[in-house]
Amino acid sequence: MPDQQPIRPATRPTAAHPAVTGRFAPTPSGRMHLGNAFSALMAWLSARAAGGRMVLRIEDLDPRAQNPEAAQLIMDDLAWLGLDWDEGPWYQSQRDETYAAAIDRLEAAGLTYPCFCTRAELHAATAPHASDGTYVYPGTCRGLTAQQIAERSRLRRPATRLRVPEADDPAGTIAFDDLALGHHEEVLARECGDFLVRRSDGVVAYQLAVVVDDALMGVTQVVRGADLLGSVARQTYLQRLLGYPTPTYGHVPLLVAPDGRRLSKREHDLDLGAIRAHEARPERLLGVLASCVGLAEKGESLSASQLATRFSWEALRVHAGNVVVDGDFLS
Ligand code: GLU
Repeated sequence: MPDQQPIRPATRPTAAHPAVTGRFAPTPSGRMHLGNAFSALMAWLSARAAGGRMVLRIEDLDPRAQNPEAAQLIMDDLAWLGLDWDEGPWYQSQRDETYAAAIDRLEAAGLTYPCFCTRAELHAATAPHASDGTYVYPGTCRGLTAQQIAERSRLRRPATRLRVPEADDPAGTIAFDDLALGHHEEVLARECGDFLVRRSDGVVAYQLAVVVDDALMGVTQVVRGADLLGSVARQTYLQRLLGYPTPTYGHVPLLVAPDGRRLSKREHDLDLGAIRAHEARPERLLGVLASCVGLAEKGESLSASQLATRFSWEALRVHAGNVVVDGDFLS
């Protein structure tokens, strides 16, 4: 399988495809939040400072995230911030056949199996929990016979899981150098175990969709929030199986309120709607976001393109851990 030709050849740098292609990959579950704006700014700066291009992909795979108005507001907020893109918007909800083709390839290579575990069974499993708070799948359905699969399929539609190598097999250890957080190494069997590529309701899993899209959209650099650091090993493993190149990863800090709470989309006080109602110019907000990583002085106002001339990963003051931001600049 790893030797198989990729679905489309890896994108090589040409005039139309410069060396760096970054991406915005928002989930349109609500208005863009200060934390999302920060991740988007970092992704844009990293690509633009290298003369690269940006792709916009709306991650609306989950039917609950299929919200065209929210997607429109996100695009409007990105444009307001001066964060432009060269390709897209692509909508994941319209790419099911592309994902199905990748899952078929994994299935044909015998790398997947149907999983009938219910949510309650998964929660009851005693396996240790992975770093991102999800469980390590204990392999319950790994060895089902054809007869067991046929019997269970009559009662329940299965999810599809990808087998990962045993903990002592070097193929299951993924090492990478994160642009912001440095060297990381993860053992898939300990981090997550066999993981989902399709849910039991038929919805394609995030990990699979992101890997297929990043490859087919020519993405060479993924800059996103540190909450997704734990996905790199799964995504890299899928890239290897599908014959795709692995992008460079950079995981930027999450912004938290002074009391340590993560700024979530539920707290409307710091979403872009509230901020824009209060502050007509984006430069002030960009200054606040840039000052979180030492790219601007506190109180400085400047545009996205001005910031791009200052940006380099070496210049950033990024530490593992969250960045505290308060809403004072609104007052
Ligand atoms: N759609 C995800 C989010 O909005 C981001 C996925 C990614 O960057 O890989 O959190």
